[in-house]
Amino acid sequence: MPLKKIHRMVFGSIPQLKREEALQVFERDHFKCQYCGIDMLASFENWMLLTVDHIHAYARGGAPELDNQVTACQPCNTIKGTREFRSLEEAKKFVHSKRAEWEKVYQEQAKVRQTARANAAHAG
Ligand SMILES: [Zn+2]
Repeated sequence: MPLKKIHRMVFGSIPQLKREEALQVFERDHFKCQYCGIDMLASFENWMLLTVDHIHAYARGGAPELDNQVTACQPCNTIKGTREFRSLEEAKKFVHSKRAEWEKVYQEQAKVRQTARANAAHAG
């Protein structure tokens, strides 16, 4: 039997959070991503990235209760995925280290683009 099917039998299907339930989580967290701290009300684009993260992944048996849920921006939620952490602090450390890796990639690419622009300007 596929693992997914077994999981569903044990835990049930992942419940869709009702909008009011999600709002409770967002309001408690002041609409700030609990991983990177971004203000999700700062712009419409940020607001569009609002998600509720299960600290102990629901897919791994985490409780669907409010104290297991935090506000997360979509990138942080994606980075964290369904990995298992003992606490929010531990999850935060993981997300921060991954974000730092991505930031390094971003900066390296920015440097390459800047050099290419400078070379093009000299050539022209
Ligand atoms: Zn975030």
